[in-house]
Amino acid sequence: MSLGGDDFLSKPVEAWHLVSAITNRVIRGRTIRKFAETDGLTGLLNHSKSKERLEIEITRSKREGQTLSFAMLDLDLFKHVNDTYGHPAGDRVLKSLAHLLKQRLRGYDIISRYGGEEFVVILPNTTLELAEKIMNKLRIAFSEINHYHENGGFSCQFSCGISSFPDFKNETSLGNEADKALYEAKESGRNKVVCRKC
Ligand code: GH3
Ligand code: MG
Ligand code: MG
Repeated sequence: MSLGGDDFLSKPVEAWHLVSAITNRVIRGRTIRKFAETDGLTGLLNHSKSKERLEIEITRSKREGQTLSFAMLDLDLFKHVNDTYGHPAGDRVLKSLAHLLKQRLRGYDIISRYGGEEFVVILPNTTLELAEKIMNKLRIAFSEINHYHENGGFSCQFSCGISSFPDFKNETSLGNEADKALYEAKESGRNKVVCRKC
């Protein structure tokens, strides 16, 4: 049953049988949900779950008259990292960024791996100015990590674009503006945080 089989519960049901059938269904349900919502490599939320959380957080910010910041991060020249140090080393870099974000951000901030070497951070109750400071601290901390490799350590950086609510009022405009800011950060030399105001 714990491997996936459901059986019929014919009455009268023995208490131990009922408890065991429900427990297995709950455990299985939780496992399926975890796979559906998280990224296997980093354990962070995945793209679709983070979109869902952004909608919820925007609604909450509107209701409470609060600000919210939305940051998109993209590792700099990551293809070069893979090409030089190999994919396993690249994977370790992705995990180390996930770990740093989880360790340094607040429990109610939402962190996700948007795909590939791109991450999204949703900072509820955070102005654009504060978000810029937070992301810059993280950027510096990340760039100071010495990633292990048998031929010697190496460092890695990320670029970041930020937009915020209520300057931008919905998921689409927050995403588009953060993406434009990220593009600007890349175009102007990488390893920097750029904010987008209206
Ligand atoms: P830029 O600074 O402009 O972002 O350059 P970049 O090299 O980071 O960008 P590009 O889009 O050319 O390359 C992204 C690389 O990220 C290529 C891809 O192999 C790597 N990548 C994406 N997902 C993973 C992953 O899960 N593990 C590893 N090791 N690499 C990944
Ligand atoms: Mg990218
Ligand atoms: Mg990149």
